Amino acid sequence: MAVKLPIYLDNNATTPVDPRVLEAMLPYFTEKFGNAASRSHSFGWVADEAVDYARQQVARLIGAETQEIVFTSGATEGNNLALKGVFEMYASKGNHIITCVTEHKSVLDACGHIEKLGGEVTYLPVGANGRVDPVAIEEAITDRTILIAVMYANNETGVIQPVREIGEIARRHGLIFFSDATQAVGKIPVDVQADGIALMSFSAHKMYGPKGAGALYVRRKNPRVRLTAQMDGGGHERGMRSGTLNVPGIAGFGKACEISLMETEAEGKRLRTLRDKLERALTSLEGVTVNGDVQHRLPHVSNLSFSDAEGDALITALSKDIALASGSACTSASPEPSYVLKAMGLSDALAHSALRFSLGRFTDDEQIDYAIRAVSGLVAELRERNTVFSPAAGRV
Ligand code: PMP
Repeated sequence: MAVKLPIYLDNNATTPVDPRVLEAMLPYFTEKFGNAASRSHSFGWVADEAVDYARQQVARLIGAETQEIVFTSGATEGNNLALKGVFEMYASKGNHIITCVTEHKSVLDACGHIEKLGGEVTYLPVGANGRVDPVAIEEAITDRTILIAVMYANNETGVIQPVREIGEIARRHGLIFFSDATQAVGKIPVDVQADGIALMSFSAHKMYGPKGAGALYVRRKNPRVRLTAQMDGGGHERGMRSGTLNVPGIAGFGKACEISLMETEAEGKRLRTLRDKLERALTSLEGVTVNGDVQHRLPHVSNLSFSDAEGDALITALSKDIALASGSACTSASPEPSYVLKAMGLSDALAHSALRFSLGRFTDDEQIDYAIRAVSGLVAELRERNTVFSPAAGRV
């Protein structure tokens, strides 16, 4: 049977809603439409029960207590609340935050905002493998440090940071460790206890849930973390995030977490096999290199550079048939080469020639075979064209 086109290989940007998730959401748009904060009638109680249930599903996936889950609109909001909320709340203790240059823009830009308010931020570099050195984190700690913010896994490369070691350093120094785990939760096992995480943001639409729902995990003990709300109002979510709850989105998010808890292990194995097949085939071409640490990497992500082939030319030529990205969707409007790849020491040319393949629950073997054929063919064609037209080759 012919492969259905276009093929979606951009699951790090967003994922389709799993049909089981959609089914769990539907009643909360129509007959169960109540406001979860309405205490005086059954419409409100039913909505509140759905939120409670989802809170349990979300908490269970990451090894948290239900009271530690604050529902948000997504990870951008969670990241802003974590960083700005800690900065404001702990102002009397210190003003210094340690983070890393390859964080998502929502972390970096929130840090930029904090600097304008008088905060001090240390942006640590990464190695050629995309990982931050825990020793450098420990060395950066001062008596003004309040927070360490390092993502769990990178959205462009899939590289997993040494989270457990960082959690241990934070614990030893009595600091808050915040991790943006948007790309990791639901893809690999994440346990806030084992990892020593005190604050953690994640998002439903990256794990087969709906857009517009997410959570911030806020630890209640060892250490107890307090945050200054960034959204004032009715005092929802224990005062940390006011605003009428997105009940259908939250119900869907809960279901997405429940499915992930059951299926992540098998799904990870399946996707790793497919990803490795794709990567093996494409790196067998000349001048194709893997970006990022291959030992510590999400199982469904491959970031490859194709020397002598423009990433954007590849993406444009493939776009009718295969949905791919060169970097993150959030910064893809920018013609600049990826700051993540540049931070790993790639030249402008190699960073410009990078493609990010991110597989997902609905990616199958035929799609990968098709992608291998299409990408290999196109790379050969582009290179041939470069050789034919390149003045250096003397064949113009
Ligand atoms: N952090 C990371 C690592 C991400 O990949 C994304 C999504 N691109 C976000 C934060 C922002 O998430 P959201 O779309 O839920 O705001």
